[in-house]
Amino acid sequence: MNPSFVAQAQPSDTLPGPAYWFIFRGVKLLVRREKKAARIPCLNGLAELGITAVRQQYLGYLDSDRPIHCYSVEVDDQTQAPEGMAFHGLRRLFGLLDEACFWLAGRAVQIMDWDRTHQFCGRCGNHTETHPQERAKLCPNCGHTSYPRLSPAMIVRVTRQGENGREILLARAHNFRPGLYSVLAGFVEPGETLEGCVRREICEEVGLIVKNIRYFGSQPWPFPNSLMIAFTAEYDSGEIKLGEAEMADARWFTPETLPQIPPPTSISRRLINDFLDQVHR
Ligand SMILES: [Zn+2]
Repeated sequence: MNPSFVAQAQPSDTLPGPAYWFIFRGVKLLVRREKKAARIPCLNGLAELGITAVRQQYLGYLDSDRPIHCYSVEVDDQTQAPEGMAFHGLRRLFGLLDEACFWLAGRAVQIMDWDRTHQFCGRCGNHTETHPQERAKLCPNCGHTSYPRLSPAMIVRVTRQGENGREILLARAHNFRPGLYSVLAGFVEPGETLEGCVRREICEEVGLIVKNIRYFGSQPWPFPNSLMIAFTAEYDSGEIKLGEAEMADARWFTPETLPQIPPPTSISRRLINDFLDQVHR
């Protein structure tokens, strides 16, 4: 079983021993390279690698037999990867890092990037200070407090009863790799409910009306700072009509005619697998 992660802004103890260090140059992560895998360096300190931090943040700990502390670190652009290690973009590490470490790296990159971009107050321009207990930046001049920002995005699986049985709506955007289709997704706008966002995005992207919108689950998506909130919905009315320039195609598929779909562990794939389970039940 994977150890669970406990998020904390400050360590509650000073247990010595190796910690996981998520070291970023820009948004690229330093990993130990193995044949078909990558690992996060587990170190007693950065000095072990001869690397100097520009800034570092405590993330929390893995609740294992012995708690393992986790840190994110920002290094400067000139920092070279030590022998046997390399800096890679997170997307490239999907499937190479074990799953728990991959999502932890997603958390680490967001905290590191937030820390880097909130050194000054967004209201008065004064230097900020790190909040002593919370994950927050305080402005000593005007009192403004800023927290790490998340961008909520909804993702939705639309199904219907077609002439050939149950069908799922899948679409592809021009920037998808060739042949790949997925469920629809879009960012929530200020003032909008999640259900309102589901209806609007489906209407804008494919011109359909849906009903029976139900919550399915959620997944952090660190590209760069989304939280994907997944729904299922039932087709109500309308014909598919592509509405946005980025959409290349959208169609109804039966389980037998499914195109190439996203990789396992993404919530889009979980939505599609759940559809297949229901049809084959
Ligand atoms: Zn201020």
